[in-house]
Amino acid sequence: MPKIRLLYDLQAVDRELDSRRERLTDIAVRLAGGSGLDDLRAEADDLKENLRRATNQQRDLEDAVARQTERVDENETKLYSGAIKNSRELEDLQAEVAQLKTQRSGIEDLLLEALEREDELQASFNAVDGKLKRGDAAWQAEEAALNQEQTRLSAEVNEFSAQRTAMSGHMDAGMLALYEQVRKAHEGIAVAQVQRDRCEACRIGLPNRQLQELRTATTPVRCNNCGRILLIE
Ligand SMILES: [Zn+2]
Repeated sequence: MPKIRLLYDLQAVDRELDSRRERLTDIAVRLAGGSGLDDLRAEADDLKENLRRATNQQRDLEDAVARQTERVDENETKLYSGAIKNSRELEDLQAEVAQLKTQRSGIEDLLLEALEREDELQASFNAVDGKLKRGDAAWQAEEAALNQEQTRLSAEVNEFSAQRTAMSGHMDAGMLALYEQVRKAHEGIAVAQVQRDRCEACRIGLPNRQLQELRTATTPVRCNNCGRILLIE
């Protein structure tokens, strides 16, 4: 009986390595992908910039209203001071005050619109920023967990690799080569145990002749159906 049990044990270690390496690849891809929050961050930046502009516009309009009020006050002071006697001059000044007030009212309407727009922008920014903060916190937690898992898995890979080196060091090179070749062709499973006269990998019953052959063989015997190396104990 060739030492198929050694290959079977080696396969157990290889499967531990395979699953860890697969997961490590997934983790690396996930970490490289990042938070996925770039679009949301860009949206928040745009809203912040629009909000800044709206605030500036609001201040400019408030200043304009204040300047207009100053001019109204100046002219009204002149108007009611009694200094102007000429009725034509008085009428002109009255008309100017009325015009200044109409202009001011127009600027005040613009100011109200600007304030409303600023409120809307602020609400939109708050919503996006809140989403972004929650997303960032979730990503940070996920990233930390992934980093931790990566560290643990890498250490385990090192341990299993050392174990594999120690195990395979004593094995026959030809057997190892066959094992690698079959493993590659059969999704990582090269050696299958015979259980109740069936191949555990493909579940097909083995003919008596092959079972006999297996018990006395000096070279590896492979399943007639799936081609895996059979182990009988
Ligand atoms: Zn089989």
